[in-house]
Amino acid sequence: MKKYYIKNAVKNIGQLVTLKGWVHEIRETSNFLFIILRDSTGKIQLTLKKSESTSNLVDIAKTLHHEDVIEVEGVISKSNIARLGIEMIPYKLNIINRAKHPLMLDVTGKINAELSTILDARFLSLRRDDYYSIFKIQSELVKIIRDYLYQQGFTEIFSPKIIKFATEGGAELFKVQYFDTEAYLAQSPQLYKEMCAGVFEKVFEIGQYYRAEKSHTPYHLSEFLSFDVECAFYTYNDVMDFLESLLKDVISNLYSVSNEYFNKLGVDKINLDYKFERIKYDEIILMLNNYGLKWGDDLTSQYLKIVEEKIGKKFFFIIDWPTQLKPFYTYEHENNNQITKSFDLNYGSLEIASGGERIYKSEDLINKLKKIGLKLENFSIFIKALESGSPPHAGFGLGLSRLLMILTGRKNIKEVVLFPRDVERLIP
Ligand code: ATP
Ligand code: MG
Repeated sequence: MKKYYIKNAVKNIGQLVTLKGWVHEIRETSNFLFIILRDSTGKIQLTLKKSESTSNLVDIAKTLHHEDVIEVEGVISKSNIARLGIEMIPYKLNIINRAKHPLMLDVTGKINAELSTILDARFLSLRRDDYYSIFKIQSELVKIIRDYLYQQGFTEIFSPKIIKFATEGGAELFKVQYFDTEAYLAQSPQLYKEMCAGVFEKVFEIGQYYRAEKSHTPYHLSEFLSFDVECAFYTYNDVMDFLESLLKDVISNLYSVSNEYFNKLGVDKINLDYKFERIKYDEIILMLNNYGLKWGDDLTSQYLKIVEEKIGKKFFFIIDWPTQLKPFYTYEHENNNQITKSFDLNYGSLEIASGGERIYKSEDLINKLKKIGLKLENFSIFIKALESGSPPHAGFGLGLSRLLMILTGRKNIKEVVLFPRDVERLIP
């Protein structure tokens, strides 16, 4: 078992330790051989003085290549020239596994690569400082969200990903053969999280969902990571309040915990020191009335870019969407059934989350399903759930990778997903 990691070396000056890791870089001068050894916690310089080291050690070290896996024993010492202020003077070096060259990608990041190569060679690109940092940030982000929600009394749920009936419209479904019947991959946990909110009151799920998105945008994948919340006895305004404080808290926490990784990425921290505006869909239409948009039209990215120009690259809600633009389970305003108690959260032109109040009375849902021509029998279990004492409830679904894109300043969602899936990509 590996017990000693490079990050501990700083605390062990003068001690004899064994390190295991990867050869990141090799540099040779007339008197020295320098090897940068990397493990999952950092990098350290191994300094071999050609005249002092036993010649055998230098001979072995000279055969090393990038990404060879090695084990070294040596003494950690202070150094005035090494980057971290410490180095290891090795006296024993063992090659555990050699890497076969040429490698698909340069791990030091000195030679950049096309996104397709970066994704094909994910096992290597993750070793680059930038991608490594992105996924360390993702891991922290998820942990901070979880901690935040557990502290607030939420219950974490796991909904099925193989389902019989669609919830978000039929067009984007992936079909799967399920024994001798047909099933679909879930597009969201919607009806399941609603049923659970009727019991645990405040629930969340972080999971992957599937949409057969044929469009080629930098924001859509066929498998995407969603962070879902549903709360009983919350209104959509309550949910927006909650989402706004969650993001402010989580992001500021993330900036302090993952400071080192944000520094490596060299991205500016986004400012969150303002109230997220709540702009009515109607107001957006007014704002865009010179651009040929009319009431009832969806706010596609071309229009949202104009909105971004007007209000800036910041978080804001668009609320009270037309009924026809929101899913069937969305609650309509009591005094106006043309609009819903719904919202999108945007960062500039990019949609990050959608949410709202849900229909919680079975007769309202039945009327709605009939009105838009959906089959009642497909929803019979959900209708039963609503008939079994369903509380009013509201929630949202947030695209975690879209949030990660914003935080890490990346332009394409595929960069911030470990092994992305889109129309062209199913491997690795
Ligand atoms: P969009 O309009 O951007 O296609 P949507 O309104 O269809 O998104 P929702 O059903 O509202 O998506 O899903 C909630 C959130 O999940 C979205 O705001 C977005 O952040 C994320 N999301 C949805 N579909 C995808 C996808 N195909 N790839 C990545 N993220 C997605
Ligand atoms: Mg949406």
